[in-house]
Amino acid sequence: MDREKFDIAVLGGGPGGYPAAIRAAQYGKSVALIEAKEMGGTCLNRGCIPSKALIAGSELVGRLKDVSTFGIDIQGMQFDYGRLATHKDQVVHKMRTGLESVIAANKITVFRGVGQLISPTEIKVLGQDNALIVADKIIVATGSEPRNIPAFPFDYERIHDSTSLLAMTTLPKKMLIVGGGVIGCEFASLYATLGVDVTILELLPRILSTEAPEVSQALTRAFTKQGIKVETNVKVQKIERTDSGIVATIEGGRTFDADCCLVSVGRSLNTNGIGLEKAGVLVQDNGIIAVNDKMETSVAGIYAVGDIASKWWLAHVASHQGLVAADNACGKVARMHYHAIPSVIFTHPEIGSVGLSLEEAQKQGYKAKVGAFPFQALGKSQATLHADGFAQVVIDEKTGQILGAQAVGYEATTLIAEMVLAITNELTIECVAETIHAHPTISEAWGESAMMAEGLPLSLPPRTRSK
Ligand SMILES: Cc1cc2nc3c(=O)[nH]c(=O)nc-3n(C[C@H](O)[C@H](O)[C@H](O)COP(=O)(O)OP(=O)(O)OC[C@H]3O[C@@H](n4cnc5c(N)ncnc54)[C@H](O)[C@@H]3O)c2cc1C
Repeated sequence: MDREKFDIAVLGGGPGGYPAAIRAAQYGKSVALIEAKEMGGTCLNRGCIPSKALIAGSELVGRLKDVSTFGIDIQGMQFDYGRLATHKDQVVHKMRTGLESVIAANKITVFRGVGQLISPTEIKVLGQDNALIVADKIIVATGSEPRNIPAFPFDYERIHDSTSLLAMTTLPKKMLIVGGGVIGCEFASLYATLGVDVTILELLPRILSTEAPEVSQALTRAFTKQGIKVETNVKVQKIERTDSGIVATIEGGRTFDADCCLVSVGRSLNTNGIGLEKAGVLVQDNGIIAVNDKMETSVAGIYAVGDIASKWWLAHVASHQGLVAADNACGKVARMHYHAIPSVIFTHPEIGSVGLSLEEAQKQGYKAKVGAFPFQALGKSQATLHADGFAQVVIDEKTGQILGAQAVGYEATTLIAEMVLAITNELTIECVAETIHAHPTISEAWGESAMMAEGLPLSLPPRTRSK
């Protein structure tokens, strides 16, 4: 087996690993990038990108219900899910080819195979390439996989995880979704908009339980209006395949049948079998690798980034951590901060949030309040028939500092960027109120929310003031 020496070795080519490899190469280091499957990881091949390509198509289909208001008559419209699936595959292929060429242009040496640490400075690779890599610094970015649960016997034809669901080329008539988290809700929205009869079964009292209660409520209301059935506080005990589909049994004996189901109840971290114990890297009880804010593990010279290294299972967090790890591995100093991480959910309506909810801010001891503004009062929302939704800012009453923000509705995933910048830079509500927002745009909702928080509403009647 060849023994090859590098300054930096990166294990895993997902959104955590490849930015780390690129950044280290840009600093002039020799870099090895080891990837067992497709470059780009879960996000590009089995997550963010394919799901959003499908969602973009379903949004367009959903939008067609409004066309007659705009004076458009469509006759004989047909929809072919197979072609939408082809579009998704083409987008993934194009993005992956682009990524591979950027990696090559940065003169990163790619090893195709399964890598395993065999000491704090060595990785053995087996697969298409077989090599023993020796590196001064190692960045581990092996990510996660859909979680396998014995009570839910995945056959990937009717009982799906997110990966096999994304590979589907025909639409079912009726679908169950077990788990009303981000992935479950995005798929529910996608398929319901395309006419599938969707039921969500959620163990907790509300869907999207990590979001602010107002956000969950708004999405539940919208889903119910769209015909998506949301069952909360239900524990699915088993899922069985039948002649015509599947049947799920919940605690208490009630059953739900459907053509197929998606099980989206979490992910398992790829920390087993990669040699962490041989290198002495400490894994916490919750399965996450212990790291500090420089993404350093318990072993000097070994860094961990992405899903395996924090509770934030998001591509943009993984990428930022990758850059921080690469900086530190290359002799610079960078630290990871988590107070302004955007969360974006591509349901219909979209959701964007950052920082603290009102509930969380109060729990943390802030005297917090909210300034909220409904999209209904925005000219742009009315003109474009996107009047459902709201934007709200959570502030510290004492200092006016912005602690968090949530938006539900059209373009909410893009809209949240302004509040991410505000919170990252510790801005106060006055800064937002004084910012001139272009008219007519949905971003005016932030200026209006700020004025609401200051008790000076511009586009809504004043609240009754107590004497
Ligand atoms: C359906 C779905 C939709 C999503 N949508 C979004 C979204 O809209 N926005 C968002 O921010 N996040 C989204 N995510 C989450 C996002 O995909 C992950 O947070 C992100 O991919 C994590 O990046 P990572 O680099 O840590 O791991 P991964 O992307 O999982 O990459 C890890 C890579 O390491 C490789 N690997 C593992 N072990 C080895 C080994 N021993 N040797 C060699 N290679 C190895 C794997 O093959 C993989 O390519 C979504 C996830 C799913 C499933």
